[in-house]
Amino acid sequence: MIYKRSSALFAEAKKYIPGGVNSPVRAFKAVGGDPIFVKEAKGAYLYDEDGNRLIDYIASWGPMILGHAYKPVIDAIIDKAKKGTSFGMPTEIETELAKLAVSMVPNIDKIRFVNSGTEACMSAVRLARGYTGKDKIIKFAGCYHGHSDSFLIQAGSGAVTFGSPNSPGVTQGTAKDTLLAAYNNLDEVKTLVQANKGQIAAIIIEPVAGNMGCIVPTDSFIKGLRELCTAEGILLIFDEVMTGFRLGKGGAQEALGIDADIVTFGKVIGGGLPVGAFAAKTEIMNHLAPDGPVYQAGTLSGNPLAMSAGLAMLTELNTNPDIFDSLAKKTAFLHEGIGKALSKKGVPHQINRFGSMVSVHFTDEPVVDFASSAKGNNERFNTFFHGMLDQGIYLPPSAFESYFLNDALTYADLEETIAAVENLNL
Ligand SMILES: *Cc1c(COP(=O)(O)O)cnc(C)c1O
Repeated sequence: MIYKRSSALFAEAKKYIPGGVNSPVRAFKAVGGDPIFVKEAKGAYLYDEDGNRLIDYIASWGPMILGHAYKPVIDAIIDKAKKGTSFGMPTEIETELAKLAVSMVPNIDKIRFVNSGTEACMSAVRLARGYTGKDKIIKFAGCYHGHSDSFLIQAGSGAVTFGSPNSPGVTQGTAKDTLLAAYNNLDEVKTLVQANKGQIAAIIIEPVAGNMGCIVPTDSFIKGLRELCTAEGILLIFDEVMTGFRLGKGGAQEALGIDADIVTFGKVIGGGLPVGAFAAKTEIMNHLAPDGPVYQAGTLSGNPLAMSAGLAMLTELNTNPDIFDSLAKKTAFLHEGIGKALSKKGVPHQINRFGSMVSVHFTDEPVVDFASSAKGNNERFNTFFHGMLDQGIYLPPSAFESYFLNDALTYADLEETIAAVENLNL
């Protein structure tokens, strides 16, 4: 494939935007080469600036679960835009989206909208601290909760891709309140809780991790976390920015059968516009300003365009919940096909999957946490990534990211993708 125009646009972008991108993982640093500049997208396909068509497995990192430029979402945005795009005053549509989200997700009574997953997780932790009167939090190595200071401690996603797990600019004072444990390791969490007894406000986790590849929690781990939190008066925060409205109407809480105390959202809930949210039972949410003392605000929070996109998206998912099953089946089909193709070549690999999230790791060992994910063969991953891209298949440009399937993908697309793996020389 030819990427002449993309490369020229990248060179120009680098003059004015740090690294040429507004979010680091887009820059292809991990896999080498220049990033692709997208011109437009429809359904399961991206069309780049050189006229190439790519089958998309990223879905804008999750939001476009029904495919790109999904008509009901686009129509809702256009209709709203004609009536004004921001007021700084309450609007009815905020309540409509809140009501729908609360009806779909178990265990939440109230929800506050923000503009990104980062803001949602940052605010959820502030609320947990304000509610419990405690300072420390526990997070898991390789989990990504956005780029706010407290979370840039062995974070996943772009933060590990670039080998700078502890970003300069995060003060020691902030870092000392973030305790780290390995994913799927309940004993480590218990040890931390004992050593910091009475000081921990919250444990925050990606209930199915998607920022170190896709990593599924063991039953005993996730149940054990819930029991431990209840016993110790610690709030369990499920960061469902990726899993919310993707693993089912009720997200990971429903899929795993675990109730969290605070849940954060992003990605799908905005239908492709910038929306994040955090939610909990009334008793906890009432601690937020203006009802309570925990401050949180946003000029563009609950923005009418963003709310209309989110409402159209969630309405589709709520009225057609078969979509989640259909997506999971497509993902299983892809998993099986890629697995067979790699086995036939004798390439050591692991494929992790949950619902419509899946990741391919070039290693012999089961991938259950950040350390095992990091053992993947990077050189082979890069060959795999570029070999697929050259055949028109757009996979995440980092071994630490999950694929996110969208419902516009057809079985013909999946077969084309599997055939592309068969063609690779790994
Ligand atoms: C993407 C992501 C975030 C951050 O969301 P942004 O909208 O990029 O700020 C937080 N948590 C998880 C699990 C994510 O996948």
